[in-house]
Amino acid sequence: MNFSLVDSGIPCRSFRAVIVGSGTAGYNAARKLYDLGVHDIAIITEGEKMGTSRNTGSDKQTYYKLTLAGGDGDSVSDMAETLFSGGAMHGDIALAQAAGSARCFFELVSLGVPFPHNEYGEYAGYKTDHDPRMRATSCGPYTSKYMTEALECAVKSKNIPIFDGYRAVKILRGGGRACGIVALCPALINEKNRYGMAVFLADNVIWATGGPSAIYSESVYPESQTCAHGMAFEAGAAGINLTESQYGIASLGFRWNLSGTYQQVIPRYFSIDESGNEHEFLTDYFPDTGEMLGAIFSKGYEWPFDPRKIFRGGRRLSSLIDLAVFSEKRRGRRVFMDFRRNPAASEHGGSLDFSLLPDYARKYLEKSGALLPLPIDRLRKMNEPAVSLYREHGIDITLEPLEIAVCAQHNNGGLDADIWSESTALAGFFPIGECAGTFGVYRPGGTALNATQVSSMRAAEKIAGSAPVTKPDESEISRDIADMISFFDILSRPRIRLPREEIFARRKEYGRIMSECGAFVRSPAAVSSAISSVRSCLSSFEADYAGAAPALMPEVMINRDILITALVYLGAIEDYIAHGGKSRGSYLVTERSIDELIAEGRDIETDEEHFSQVQTALYSGGEMKYAFSPVRPIPERELWFENVYNEYRKSSVKTPLSHK
Ligand SMILES: Cc1cc2nc3c(=O)[nH]c(=O)nc-3n(C[C@H](O)[C@H](O)[C@H](O)COP(=O)(O)OP(=O)(O)OC[C@H]3O[C@@H](n4cnc5c(N)ncnc54)[C@H](O)[C@@H]3O)c2cc1C
Repeated sequence: MNFSLVDSGIPCRSFRAVIVGSGTAGYNAARKLYDLGVHDIAIITEGEKMGTSRNTGSDKQTYYKLTLAGGDGDSVSDMAETLFSGGAMHGDIALAQAAGSARCFFELVSLGVPFPHNEYGEYAGYKTDHDPRMRATSCGPYTSKYMTEALECAVKSKNIPIFDGYRAVKILRGGGRACGIVALCPALINEKNRYGMAVFLADNVIWATGGPSAIYSESVYPESQTCAHGMAFEAGAAGINLTESQYGIASLGFRWNLSGTYQQVIPRYFSIDESGNEHEFLTDYFPDTGEMLGAIFSKGYEWPFDPRKIFRGGRRLSSLIDLAVFSEKRRGRRVFMDFRRNPAASEHGGSLDFSLLPDYARKYLEKSGALLPLPIDRLRKMNEPAVSLYREHGIDITLEPLEIAVCAQHNNGGLDADIWSESTALAGFFPIGECAGTFGVYRPGGTALNATQVSSMRAAEKIAGSAPVTKPDESEISRDIADMISFFDILSRPRIRLPREEIFARRKEYGRIMSECGAFVRSPAAVSSAISSVRSCLSSFEADYAGAAPALMPEVMINRDILITALVYLGAIEDYIAHGGKSRGSYLVTERSIDELIAEGRDIETDEEHFSQVQTALYSGGEMKYAFSPVRPIPERELWFENVYNEYRKSSVKTPLSHK
């Protein structure tokens, strides 16, 4: 091989740690490393303004933490137990997330994130889903945005270098561990560096790349969030609980969860077929109008699809709405939510007939002073910002309906990591935040944001306490880079250019496969046909992307990552079903059609058997290996102070003072 990195014109820099991603997890890792004395670091991001944390939110975006107000006892053990009881969750990770909760929360408070408290400084909480206490808090619709901005400010005040506009496309391995990344930055393209490559060598690679949003076409993640799990699998990192994600009803034009008051005001759902005929389809699924209105109302606080909330003892519940929306779309119809009119079956004299509502819903609206004629009147009364939010994004819900779908919102599984957030299969590689699959089957709302902070803090502590690593053999790295250049050469050689739109159209098509077959409705036959489709897209990849311009290589590589990720995720679903896995969490496993299930109206049998197990995944050379193993329990641990004190003094864990 005659490739030399030094002569290649490709910039190559070396750091103690690189952090890929600039969301709440990535910024916090950088900030913590710096405070622990590790200053030889850099953040690499495809776009500082991109990703989920900065660009998303919800009716009341939740942060889950240890109780910090009032007299209801709470403890680290209690919170760990709550997280652990969500199923398929390791006890030691649940414990670490609970133990780090108060500390991380107060760090955010001291950075200026406006979490509300009373005049005595108590951070009162509310109850969120799967929460036995009242541990949730919120800064309003934009909690994660405020967190990102505060953390970004802290990072910038320390002058930590940020390489903005760099898309990581490969994780480098050397000496049996992660040793850096290759990124593409179109601004670097020149005669010598034809694809704008940049190499970042590092003793430790922190992967803060967020959830695999773009494997789905129907997703409520922000458009700027795509997917970076595939290259981690290729580098040898393991996956865990890849079957577990959360799905719910969201608007498509402007991506936003339609939870809380959007549902509690009881909007009208309708679909439109190819000939433009409008149909209020929910009445086909709910013969009883009162039950339908109750289900719409309940969707407000039962937002994620849940197979246990479709039927119960013959009653029809809120998750039947998700299935109804899905079925309508399968029939080729577009589906909408309309705040300008009441559901026709409940309208009486230009108003909702409130006598049809279940007691709990009527009382709630009454207490809120919202027994008003139209959904939009009720929404304005209860939550005016919910209306202005859409207006700020160019949609006036007083004049037009919202197009909706059941969208992917959060990945509970992801890359497998230990209690320090280091990959279980690839040393020196630290998946943190949402890309680390530490959430189990059911999780209290708001734990994702807690996890971004705890995992990043712990990864920083581990790295700060570790010895520097011997630099990798340059020939090993050069080979990888030369292979990558050859791959880009093959793609870019044809003179006829592949249009940019074609790359995005293909991405949409890959997402459609996953949204239809590997999202919240999963049939064994559809999953296996989706696997064949994805495999065939991967095998024709070079031919399909022939003619891609060098400046478009980052987008091409995103599509490749999506395909690899989708393949490993679909394989996990297939393996879970083959092991007898049933519906659970936020998905339905069924061999029968939705219409048959609905006609039958029976409770869905959910999975118990795999609750105390995790499924792990490894990918190599296009093939996957899956295995089930028991969850690790919450550890018995030493809490006698004198002993903890002595152990702590001997340990390598760093504090901000240890390096001074
Ligand atoms: C609609 C919605 C509502 C939500 N509500 C809640 C809630 O109420 N409570 C809660 O706890 N959680 C909620 N979540 C989840 C939570 O917001 C996310 O889990 C969290 O923000 C993820 O943070 P992160 O730092 O891990 O990733 P992100 O914030 O997604 O950051 C990823 C970063 O990595 C960058 N990146 C990705 N790939 C590459 C690459 N290859 N090269 C370079 N850079 C790359 C991205 O551009 C981005 O900067 C919600 C999510 C959604 C979509």
